[in-house]
Amino acid sequence: MMAHLCGMEAVSHIIDTHAHIYLDEFKSDLSSMLDRARDAGVERIYMPGIASADIPDLLQTEAMHPGLCRAMMGLHPCYVGEDYKAELDIVADWLSKRPFAAVGEVGLDFHWDLTHVEAQREAFSKQVGWAADLGLPVVIHSRKSTDACIDIIRGQQDGRLKGIFHCFSGTADEAREIIDLGFYLGIGGVLTYKNGGLAPVIEAVGLDRLVLETDAPYLTPVPFRGKRNEPAHLKLVAQRLSDIAGLPYAEVAAITTRNAQAVFGA
Ligand SMILES: [Zn+2]
Ligand SMILES: [Zn+2]
Repeated sequence: MMAHLCGMEAVSHIIDTHAHIYLDEFKSDLSSMLDRARDAGVERIYMPGIASADIPDLLQTEAMHPGLCRAMMGLHPCYVGEDYKAELDIVADWLSKRPFAAVGEVGLDFHWDLTHVEAQREAFSKQVGWAADLGLPVVIHSRKSTDACIDIIRGQQDGRLKGIFHCFSGTADEAREIIDLGFYLGIGGVLTYKNGGLAPVIEAVGLDRLVLETDAPYLTPVPFRGKRNEPAHLKLVAQRLSDIAGLPYAEVAAITTRNAQAVFGA
């Protein structure tokens, strides 16, 4: 089969399940950045929503690159503030108006600010309910809050919920609980960090429920740590996963792509 490729190695397709490429960080080089992503084999990029202020850029990026970029809709827990009810109304309005790839990113963040924890819980739970009603996956941000997010999902899992715990950073036990709830784990640049702590989790749970993500422009993998992250760097995460799992790169690409399609649809 390789002979048909005239000596060139086939590029394995991979899916970036989480990248904020509509942010200002990418304004100056969006199209060359997306060319680099395609060259690296990235065939689709799922873009999480954060708050209403970013929605125009999110939707415009999707409209300009319809095959490659897909938008989600949701209120990020770090943007749950005094006005969260109005923000949630905007999310609900958009979800009723047109299709989205997922409800996200939503969840709980206990790292930055604990002022609005109760509102964060309410906003998360509401948006999870909308995902269930619409038959959409839910993409979960669970910083320092993995157990609390698991509890909310467990309480609302009536067989309709599926989705991703993005940037998963918990223990092997938490990973198993998430998998038992029918969810997937989003694995990104942290996997390449020396003290990332993810390798034992992956050895424990295997690849069947893992999806790849960059979380660009954040969490840049080694050796580019400290610089802006971008979807082309997803292949470094896939390569590290291949090293940890002891599987060929092409197989890791195929498994994680199949998993992403199981969450979002083909
Ligand atoms: Zn996040
Ligand atoms: Zn994110």
